[in-house]
Amino acid sequence: MKEKKEREKSITHVQFGSDYIYLGLNCIYTRREKEGGVQHQMGRAFVYVIIGGGVAAGYAAHEFVQAGVSSGELCIISEEPVAPYERPALSKGYLLPEAPARLPSFHCCVGTNGERLAPKWYNENGIELILGTRVKSADVRRKTLLTATGETISYKYLIVATGARHTVDLPTSELTPGLKALKLEEFGVNTLDAPNVCYLRDVADADRLVDVMQSRSGGQAVVIGGGYIGMECAASLVINNLNVTMVFPEAQCMARLFTPKIAAFYEEFYQSKGVKFVKGTVLTSFDFNSDGKVCAVNLRDGSKLPADMVVVGIGIRPNTSLFEGQLTMEKGGIKVNGKMQSSNSSVYAIGDVAAFPVKIVGETRRLEHVDSARRAARHVVSAIIEPEKAGEFDYLPFFYSRVFTLSWQFYGDNAGEVVHFGNFSGNTFGAYWMNKSHLVGSFLEGGTKEQYEALAQATRLKPKIEDFAELESQGLEYAFNVIQKPPSPLPAEVGGGSTLVLDKPLHVWHATTGVIVAASVAAFAYWYGRKRKRW
Ligand SMILES: Cc1cc2nc3c(=O)[nH]c(=O)nc-3n(C[C@H](O)[C@H](O)[C@H](O)COP(=O)(O)OP(=O)(O)OC[C@H]3O[C@@H](n4cnc5c(N)ncnc54)[C@H](O)[C@@H]3O)c2cc1C
Repeated sequence: MKEKKEREKSITHVQFGSDYIYLGLNCIYTRREKEGGVQHQMGRAFVYVIIGGGVAAGYAAHEFVQAGVSSGELCIISEEPVAPYERPALSKGYLLPEAPARLPSFHCCVGTNGERLAPKWYNENGIELILGTRVKSADVRRKTLLTATGETISYKYLIVATGARHTVDLPTSELTPGLKALKLEEFGVNTLDAPNVCYLRDVADADRLVDVMQSRSGGQAVVIGGGYIGMECAASLVINNLNVTMVFPEAQCMARLFTPKIAAFYEEFYQSKGVKFVKGTVLTSFDFNSDGKVCAVNLRDGSKLPADMVVVGIGIRPNTSLFEGQLTMEKGGIKVNGKMQSSNSSVYAIGDVAAFPVKIVGETRRLEHVDSARRAARHVVSAIIEPEKAGEFDYLPFFYSRVFTLSWQFYGDNAGEVVHFGNFSGNTFGAYWMNKSHLVGSFLEGGTKEQYEALAQATRLKPKIEDFAELESQGLEYAFNVIQKPPSPLPAEVGGGSTLVLDKPLHVWHATTGVIVAASVAAFAYWYGRKRKRW
């Protein structure tokens, strides 16, 4: 009995310098700590580790399984308590008053009509899914992560898929509702933890929004921000019987993407549903009632809007803090090359957190779109497993939204001159963007699957546009014509290309080490780390 207990305490020990590292079944400790009765939870080692359990992580997991990773090789660590899901559902189906979408119905990869990966799927495929656990620190030189539960996780390859958030990059548990509103407070607005001020990034936010929305039915809702979160939330609030006012500093909604003509169409549509717009001004402060709830919104132009609830959609911040000072950053994200590989050759980044070379525009960009996260996830797996075969990620930016009965898609880049087409008083219209006389971007409202596909293909081909008036009159027909007769290859100044130099090639690594060896690596990392007082 005594012997068994000893074995449980320490299965072996390794000498490092003048000290010993004892390797327990679930813990590691030095001789000094052993004598003092201190034990630490032992680390685990995986070939592949993904930090973040959002869209990119879900699609990458699926791709790893397709690629035949062995049981026990892949680990996903996510701060969220649920398995990866299709985040765009939160501002659409999740907010419907009738038959709303709820998990498990929208786990990845249903967004692309793929297999729905419920938690059981990860288990069946030998993927370690560590949920509700934040990674507190990362050491890319030692290839280790430290979780909030005190566990050290070692990796051979790390994929950073931490996405972005509306708040400071702190653990949810360390964020009071007031701190969650820090982004507003950065603009000098104090929310005083008001329970009727809502954000929308994860399921917890969506649940809170649903509760507040349902309890204020018939009341006044103020939406701060005129981007897609603001637009989608405003539509949902209307559908849930709230009177909505949208406030934003720009002269139009969706200012980063829409032309004034396109914006005017959506604003008129929203107005026909009762939405009011207050443009060219910003929120300066809230008024609170005796319950601590916001009851009015004060604007810089001196006006006051009564409010039973507020929804804030004023942008996001990539979750890069684990890697600041360790990896090269650009455009606010982790800079990666066309293999999604960062400045450290064992670390890759995908999704909202990654700034990657968008070949078609010839620039490094960070995109906050679900399609980009899904495709980069697929690409990164092949780039890690078959680096020689995987080419450079060649992505055509794609973004979509659905509000009320409307639905639009956008491809490419909204740079240069614009030509609108179609019937802006009807159901189907769009726009083309031309840079140096080549088609670089396209937008379509109310299209069919074939029309959207034609537009995407035509945009990718970047044809030269000789006659803008002809383009306007042909409209969608132009896209179909182009894909039937693809243009000759592009001149270099229009094509763009990867802006990053590849690190040295990687080779597939297989976990052949046994338990003791893996534990020794973790123990060494732990001992070395403590010796260096890095964590
Ligand atoms: C409400 C909403 C609606 C959207 N609608 C659309 C749309 O209509 N069209 C479109 O193209 N895009 C849309 N998007 C954007 C799209 O969802 C994102 O681009 C996509 O989710 C990015 O995927 P990701 O995996 O990079 O990040 P996310 O899906 O955000 O996942 C990041 C994950 O990392 C976790 N994490 C972060 N830090 C840590 C840490 N230190 N330790 C452990 N875990 C951590 C987070 O908790 C989260 O689970 C929408 C986004 C939102 C919020």
